[in-house]
Formats: sequence, structure tokens, C-alpha cells
Amino acid sequence: MRALEVDAHTHTIASGHAYGTVSEMVKAAADRGIRLLGITEHTSGIPGTCADIYFSNMKVIPRQMFGIEVMFGAELNIVDYNGGVDLDAGYFKHLDIRIASMHTQCFAPGTREQNTAAVIGAIRNPGIDIIGHPIDGTYPLDYEPIVRAAAEHHVLLEVNNHALRSPSRINAFENACTMARLCKKYDIPLTCNSDAHFMTDVGNTSHIAGVFEETDFPEELILNLSMERFQGFLQWNREHKGR
Ligand SMILES: [Zn+2]
Ligand SMILES: [Zn+2]
Repeated sequence: MRALEVDAHTHTIASGHAYGTVSEMVKAAADRGIRLLGITEHTSGIPGTCADIYFSNMKVIPRQMFGIEVMFGAELNIVDYNGGVDLDAGYFKHLDIRIASMHTQCFAPGTREQNTAAVIGAIRNPGIDIIGHPIDGTYPLDYEPIVRAAAEHHVLLEVNNHALRSPSRINAFENACTMARLCKKYDIPLTCNSDAHFMTDVGNTSHIAGVFEETDFPEELILNLSMERFQGFLQWNREHKGR
């Protein structure tokens, strides 16, 4: 697949289990030809990550560094079967991009129906832009209603390189292919991100590429291949969804 213009989901030392600084991550992205980098630290449910106050002062960081654009956001934890998240919506105005994900540290896997309801609840949250790695079979999901809800509420579903590579994530490749096939069927764009926790992983699509090959996924539905289209998607959310 073509190199990404956008890697929207990465972490720095602020997340507590990632090892690059903001400057190091942005420089690595610039060196790799990324035009827009998203830095999205974990919210408070993940042990060792930053406190909520971290997300309130992001205005002090420039959105252009090393010649590329940078977004500062968060990867929020889904914490209940209604799709509730662990960061107060009052912080959202400080965040350029908001990802909601299920992590075992914060959310016990339920039945397929419960997990699906949790994801759809997060999709309906007007502050959420992306559902992070909904491909980890630790949380079995029913993809048809999720893909339809994502389209209806203008939220992106993510094919996540880190999750595809991680042996602790169950059936991630098969689930990503199922999700991608449905997005292709309904002509719905996807996002794909490295979820890098270190500089060497920024922009890495080594495992994502296999999903798009397997499903013969159309390039025009991979939003990360165009910075302008990706920014347009987020801009639409800021203008139409009220947060
Ligand atoms: Zn995650
Ligand atoms: Zn992440």
C-alpha cells in the first residue's frame, strides 16, 4: 500500500508505557514523510498514564513542528456497556482528535451483544472521532451494526497496526478483514494507524497492508492516504456534532 500521509494514533512517554517524547515522535514522522501526526495519549483508566490535567493545556504546543502538522488528542477508554468514557466532555474542546477504545485494564469483556452496544454507544458520543482497534477479539463484536452506526454518526473505525501485530489480541486479522469488507460493501471510509509507542513504529503499516490486500480494499476509502481528506473529516465533526 502507499505510504500514509496521516498517522492519527500514537503515544509518547506521557502515556506511561510508551518511550518517545513529543519532539522525537514528530521528528520521526517528518523523516518518514508523514504530513499529519496525531498524538493521542491514554486517559486516566490506563495505569501510569497522564492525569486529566494533561489534556487541558495542549494549547501551549505548536501544531506545526519539523515541517509537518500535529494534532494533540486522546485515546479515551470505553468503561461501560453504554459506551461511557473516562474523560469528562469538558476537556474535549482542548483535543484536536478523540479516539475511544476498549482496553482490558478498564473494561471487562462482555457478551457480543454487550460489547457491540458499548462500541455503538461510543460512536453516538458526539465528541468521538475514531473507534480505536475494534478488531481485538478479546471483545467479540457484531460488525454489521457497528459499521452502519459509524457511517450514520460520521465516526471512523480503525485498522490498527499495533493490535494486528500483538499476540494477545485475538483474531485481529480476521476481524479487521470482516470490518473492511463491510466498509467496502457500504462505501464507508476507514482509518488505519500505527498506534506507535516508539519512534521506530511511526507510520508503520506492515500488518495493515495485509488486511487491505486480503480484502482488495479501495484506496479512496483509506482516509489516511490524504491529509486534506482526513482534516476535512475532523472539521466536519467539529462543525456538525457540537463538541
Ligand atoms: Zn488502544
Ligand atoms: Zn493507542
